[in-house]
Amino acid sequence: MKASLDKVSTGSTRRSAKPSQSRRKSALAAHAMSHPDAMIDLHGIVKTFKNAAGEFTVLKGVDLTINRGEFVSIVGKSGSGKSTLLNMMTGIDHPSAGKVVIGGTDIYTGVTESQRSRWRGRNLGIVFQFFQLLPMLTLVENVMLSMDYAELYDFDERPERALEMLKVVGLEKFANKLPISVSTGQQQLAAIARALACDPPLLVADEPTGNLDSKSADAIIDLFEELSRKGKTIVMVTHDPSLTSRTTRNIILSDGELIDETVSRALPLLRHRHMLEITKSAVRVTYGPHEVILDCNRQVENIYLISNGAVDVMSASGARARHLARLRSGDLFGEIELLRGGKSIACVRAGDKPVEVLIFPRADFLRIVEESPITAEALGRMVQARLEQHRSAARARKQ
Ligand code: ADP
Ligand code: MG
Repeated sequence: MKASLDKVSTGSTRRSAKPSQSRRKSALAAHAMSHPDAMIDLHGIVKTFKNAAGEFTVLKGVDLTINRGEFVSIVGKSGSGKSTLLNMMTGIDHPSAGKVVIGGTDIYTGVTESQRSRWRGRNLGIVFQFFQLLPMLTLVENVMLSMDYAELYDFDERPERALEMLKVVGLEKFANKLPISVSTGQQQLAAIARALACDPPLLVADEPTGNLDSKSADAIIDLFEELSRKGKTIVMVTHDPSLTSRTTRNIILSDGELIDETVSRALPLLRHRHMLEITKSAVRVTYGPHEVILDCNRQVENIYLISNGAVDVMSASGARARHLARLRSGDLFGEIELLRGGKSIACVRAGDKPVEVLIFPRADFLRIVEESPITAEALGRMVQARLEQHRSAARARKQ
């Protein structure tokens, strides 16, 4: 399976079946912008649905950048807006406000529905929870259809390439079967082969394992990992928290808003609404190299989450200080004092480079932790371990 994966990108020449059309400057190409590493750039995305009952805002101003080659999972409660967010990235639906740039292309500004649909066929692979294979076509015909639709690859080349794609997902033996005569896991693999047929740089999947047993789900994630290593950008919405550990980045959507990734990394066991509260009210501060963030023996009134860079925890300020620990992005500090209601027992300062921290007030943090026993427990364990570090440093000093 591994050897044939190369075929996804290099096996055939991805050329247009109609040269005259490919030479014509596409309206979509005219809006190139955004950072060169970015595959997906969402700016201030708002989506409001109107119905008889009135207006309902599903996405409330989403900013998100996903770089080329990332394998990203998106999680959130049912109804939090995950599918709607994916539909904004794929051009299946359009935002009420905001800008979507995919691979340097603004897909909504000055672009007609049919131009967008053509762009989608050529640049995106989409995988759905219920596969959406055409039931009266064989697997290989289903895969060929996306090349026919996008008018990519020569007509004569398409059957062979479709077969190659089925090989990539391990289904070559089933090429001439109808979807109904293979398992649901195999149907999803065929749907992925179809998504890969036009060699898109970006794969977008909405709960692709939601209808599969865990073994089939595993096979899908293995394949995504492999494709991601080969350079594809993959965005996958999932309900299954166990899958998020296999992606390179996890994004949480809560009630139409994104949770700051520093918050979800530092306090992963909190309820989503609490993560969102911290996201919205924490203050972001940058400290210069070696600048003191938390001095010794001061009343501590905040919890600090490191979002970028590193800090050094010192046993005291001044020359006699011992280095106790280095904390990095996703770590937190200030919790010992907050939980024990005291003054800072150590001094924390920025490392050799600037460090960015999120600062959240003590009283709000204590209220949130009280509502989340598993977070309280995890923090309790962290505090014990850090206090032990302090004690052994103190013992070492006396010797
Ligand atoms: P998720 O995928 O996270 O479960 P969705 O993005 O499907 O959530 O939906 C978010 C909310 O938007 C839901 O409350 C849903 O009912 C509503 N919604 C989605 N699509 C439409 C639509 N076309 N018209 C009206 N409301 C919609
Ligand atoms: Mg959904």
